[in-house]
Amino acid sequence: MKFGGTSMAGTERIRRVAGLVRAQAAGKGGVRNQVAVVVSAMAGETDRLVGFCREANPLHDAAEYDVVVSSGEQVTSGLLALTLQSLGERARSWLGWQLPIRTIEAHSKARVETIDAPGMLEALNQGEIAVIPGFQGVSHRERITTMGRGGSDTSAVAIAAAVGADRCDIYTDVDGVYTTDPRIVAKARKLKAVTYEEMLELASVGAKVLQSRAVGLARKAGVRLQVLSSFVDESANASADDLLGTLIVSEDEMDEMVEKGLMERQLVTGIAHDKTEAKVILTRVPDKPGAVAHIFEPLADASINVDMIIQNVGRDKGETDVTFTVPQADLARAQALLEDRRDMIGFNRIITDSQIAKISVVGVGMKSHAGVASTMFRSLSDRGINIQAISTSEIKVSVMIDEDETELAVRVLHTAYGLDSSE
Ligand code: ADP
Ligand code: ASP
Ligand code: MG
Repeated sequence: MKFGGTSMAGTERIRRVAGLVRAQAAGKGGVRNQVAVVVSAMAGETDRLVGFCREANPLHDAAEYDVVVSSGEQVTSGLLALTLQSLGERARSWLGWQLPIRTIEAHSKARVETIDAPGMLEALNQGEIAVIPGFQGVSHRERITTMGRGGSDTSAVAIAAAVGADRCDIYTDVDGVYTTDPRIVAKARKLKAVTYEEMLELASVGAKVLQSRAVGLARKAGVRLQVLSSFVDESANASADDLLGTLIVSEDEMDEMVEKGLMERQLVTGIAHDKTEAKVILTRVPDKPGAVAHIFEPLADASINVDMIIQNVGRDKGETDVTFTVPQADLARAQALLEDRRDMIGFNRIITDSQIAKISVVGVGMKSHAGVASTMFRSLSDRGINIQAISTSEIKVSVMIDEDETELAVRVLHTAYGLDSSE
């Protein structure tokens, strides 16, 4: 079981979470379940800690950043263990370094390598509930690492794989995966199921309900993943549908569900938006072999992910403009790295803009049907929304637009692809 920030925000909510954990551990018909629980920091806490790091040093050392931002989860894991104990359960916290969860050294965006947790397995076998702070691990140099924002989802899947769990239930503040963020589009529809491939794509373009690495790992390790709400009251008169959440399934399982009439095949499964990227334009870059390599190699060496890239056609004097996006969090570092190499790259100016958003439509139906992209371009232009860049994959089309038009664009597209719920 994994509980996100809103579910852990304060001792009252933690008590409620403890109740759900206790009920799960109690099992059915006298057969107890072994339960490992992964928790996030209280809602807003990680943002607060990130803010302190920025104030202390804008070009902060990622290893020290991890020491600071991982602390929110230490607090909630201890509090949940205490609360479970107050209900008469046996429970203890297992910090990342105590298990240990070994990760690569890439601080602030580490990946899990191995989880070898004999102590925790033994405790689970003895009937103790294990509470694990999400988001954090430990490097081979014995320093604390974190797994990128939203990383508790990945911790949960990694733990589920390591203990061979029957299921990994991600409890959050919405009751499943919707056709788009239900906080933006009131007519968004809950999906009974979504394939790993589509969920991976949706998560990687901004549907933050699951971290994309968590989905990738679940697919690879064969972890059964379910998204559900920790706020639905099972005793109240919520309908069975409200309690079910969304299952992440394989293509074969999805085919079966469609055949049985449990799911409908749509051309577009979901729409996501991402406001966390920033646009960088380098003007008057020499239009010759090697120029873009000079730009992107130092960014790659610094583990800065570049997403959309456009190189304009060369103009007079053998020069061109190169536009690309990087995470806003890495913008200052990217700018500093490029400025340092101004002479080698040979550009004239760096122009940056954080007021952009990426809107993406995702669906496996695109593999076999044309026209998805053109519907997108037409619908946006009819509302006067200007497209600044485009990128595509086999099952996705993304456009870059002005950040102020994000909500409008998502709503317009949700209607255009026939995803609005009829209620
Ligand atoms: P947690 O703290 O539980 O990890 P997050 O805030 O990381 O929660 O993720 C849940 C949020 O994801 C929801 O509150 C919702 O606003 C957002 N979200 C974005 N896209 C979707 C989607 N397609 N379906 C459901 N929720 C979505
Ligand atoms: N607390 C971390 C974050 O806010 C990890 C998580 O909640 O998944 O990104
Ligand atoms: Mg999350």
